[in-house]
Amino acid sequence: MPHFPIKLIVLHYSATYPDQDYGVADIRKMHLARGFNDVGYHYVIRRSGAVERGRADTTVGAHVSGHNTGSLGICCIGGIERVTGPNVGVDNRAEAQKVATVKLVRELLAKHPGAQVVGHRDLTATQCPGFDVRSWWAAANARPPVVDSIPVKPLPSRSTPVTSGPAKGPIYILAALAAAALAFLGVK
Ligand SMILES: [Zn+2]
Repeated sequence: MPHFPIKLIVLHYSATYPDQDYGVADIRKMHLARGFNDVGYHYVIRRSGAVERGRADTTVGAHVSGHNTGSLGICCIGGIERVTGPNVGVDNRAEAQKVATVKLVRELLAKHPGAQVVGHRDLTATQCPGFDVRSWWAAANARPPVVDSIPVKPLPSRSTPVTSGPAKGPIYILAALAAAALAFLGVK
């Protein structure tokens, strides 16, 4: 069975604690110890948001039993917390990781149009990656990238830039409405 076309982009966590600054070299070491011939994922995203290459996209991964052919695996470092221990998967991705994931997935979708973005747990019995990928992706992909990287702050008075330029989605329209309301109320 050919690896291409890519039908699935599968998100994972590393099941490590957020204070463990792991990268692809560490995951490769773990996977070699488990008998794989290389790191199982195609990409690893560090806590810093740095994206590291695992296997080439053209190589079948080892990240999701029964679905490795025709899929690409992305692993965000993290996914468990000290307080709840190693058996409770959570979404503790750093903001930088979310931003990097959105960027990477968009790039991959451009190369592999029509691929579905799913979580490991959508395909097999696991908690990985600790959140519902389909709903997260739908929301994240609906926003312009800038919204993920810049925290939303109250608009300063007399701020009008949101009303210029092409409409970029609901958040901009809401911001424009808020600015208009503030101007109407004479808020300084
Ligand atoms: Zn996984």
